[in-house]
Amino acid sequence: MKKHEILEKIFGHSAFRQFQEEAVDAIVSGQDLLMILPTGGGKSLCYQLPALMMDGVSIVVSPLIALMQDQVRGLSENGIEARTIHSDMTQEERVKVFQELKSGSVKLLYVSPERLVSPNFLTFLNTLKINFFVIDEAHCVSEWGHEFRADYRKLHLLKAHFPQVPIAAFTATATPKVADDIHKALQLKDPVSLRGSVFRQNLKINSEKRISNGRAQLVNFLNAYKGESGIVYTFTRKEAEQVATFLQSKNFSAKAYHARIDADEKERVYHDFLYEKIDIVVATIAFGMGIDKSNIRFVVHTSLPKTIENYYQEIGRAGRDGLESETLLLFTKSDEMQKRELVQSVESDTYKEVLYEKLQKMYNFALSSVCKHKLLGVYFGDVVKDCEDHCISCLKPPVEQIEITKEAQQLISAIYRMEQKFGQNHVIDVLRGSEAEKVHTFEHHKLSVHGIGKGRGKAEWEMIFDRLFELEMIGLGDHRTVRLLEKSKEVLTGGLEVWIDEDKIGKMVKSTYLHDDTPKDAMFEAFRTLRIEIATEHQIPAYMVFSDKTLLELSQRLPQDKEEMLEVHGIGEVKYERYGEAFLERSKELSQSK
Ligand code: ADP
Repeated sequence: MKKHEILEKIFGHSAFRQFQEEAVDAIVSGQDLLMILPTGGGKSLCYQLPALMMDGVSIVVSPLIALMQDQVRGLSENGIEARTIHSDMTQEERVKVFQELKSGSVKLLYVSPERLVSPNFLTFLNTLKINFFVIDEAHCVSEWGHEFRADYRKLHLLKAHFPQVPIAAFTATATPKVADDIHKALQLKDPVSLRGSVFRQNLKINSEKRISNGRAQLVNFLNAYKGESGIVYTFTRKEAEQVATFLQSKNFSAKAYHARIDADEKERVYHDFLYEKIDIVVATIAFGMGIDKSNIRFVVHTSLPKTIENYYQEIGRAGRDGLESETLLLFTKSDEMQKRELVQSVESDTYKEVLYEKLQKMYNFALSSVCKHKLLGVYFGDVVKDCEDHCISCLKPPVEQIEITKEAQQLISAIYRMEQKFGQNHVIDVLRGSEAEKVHTFEHHKLSVHGIGKGRGKAEWEMIFDRLFELEMIGLGDHRTVRLLEKSKEVLTGGLEVWIDEDKIGKMVKSTYLHDDTPKDAMFEAFRTLRIEIATEHQIPAYMVFSDKTLLELSQRLPQDKEEMLEVHGIGEVKYERYGEAFLERSKELSQSK
């Protein structure tokens, strides 16, 4: 079959997306390739399609077993012979795959980098007809990246052992420096270089200061997404548990996922999320690369990520199907400080500096009122012209500033009088005149600053703290005590004024997020219910039956026969054979009841 035919008949897509055809052509013509395309851009197809046009087997290097299994499952759904070999398989299972490889029936083989470069495996590969190697998540090769993996470094062996076999490297996040490193580390030969736009048009980006623990902001945001799939990223495992419990208490269908929960529970949470038995996963970054669910409608970060790469990749999990999706980043200056402390323990000075710089850029991104999409473009070496109000900076009218010099002076003198030995909460308690035991134990009720800040609520004082951290007037000392920095003196003497965005203080304004709150229509829901039934029956994730985009098109077009069904996005012959009729029936029923 020709490429367009495969695209339509096997993958069910009517046209190539940007750069996909160029990538396919490069691979088919035997050239090396380096492709940088955001998550959801459609990288998999770029190597899966050529694999079907060629005789031998194509080998894909992937960093995670879950990711490999997911891909293999997805390909099998489209009737493509794909296999994986990994350490969780029994000896018998592995032998079976080796035999299938020998017989030439397998089109795509997924393996981990460490297995691929093991001497025995390289010898075995020599007996096969290999079309090309694919290096997925290729940024793992680079020390300038954010997810460096030593095993990836060994992939230079591929060119040494198979000089004639082309290599295609793919990643979603690479600064120009990382791209250069991938090129060198894999020893690519004059690769065709394709860099997609960093701009994710369907992602709305919100970022705002976290007020107190951010729970009110979270609920406010999530209320617009009842019944839809999304991820809430937290920094710690404990927080993941707490936020999940909190959301459950507010009647959201949410579960926690982090490195410490046992393997069975992990599998269950992931499974329930894919099969849409739960809506929200509250996770640490342990819930990462393996997630390949196309209809994630929102991603929330409850605190500042460590790097823009992490952030971009995590928000990129939303809206892979191209439909409008939304992200929310909640952050404070103290997040940045906390993460800075963690970097301190990194041994290599060079890597430490790289991480500090990345953290600083992440914080500036969160804080900045410049278009968020443009900032991402600048970071990854791309130009984004206009996000068309798809970020909070572009949408929000400029905010009035109000002066808080007096409050700043009160806060600074409170810290001074308590000899810089206490944390933020205690300082606020004293300012607000608390009679708590701790206040009395240290005799802080006798201080002149006790109660001078009664007029402002706890949350407001937290915002003032944040502002002073941000302006580097105060900093964190040992054990999270608050200490005074040089600039605080100027504030006390009246030499420096302090201002804050009006909406951050005085009144707790309700956040204006970028989503419209119109519910999805009944037709869409009817198709969605059917999808859940079929997914459960076939034991596959719901989005693998059909994507949200397919359901949306079905609900808009209500096809009446097979031909019309095949015109719908994401429905090819194979998928039609499997599930088409049930959906066609539902479509006919719906159009009669209209
Ligand atoms: P990436 O690996 O770049 O993150 P994927 O390969 O997972 O992206 O593709 C993201 C989504 O886009 C998938 O749901 C896939 O089916 C869809 N897709 C890929 N190529 C096309 C295309 N040419 N037309 C329509 N949808 C596509």
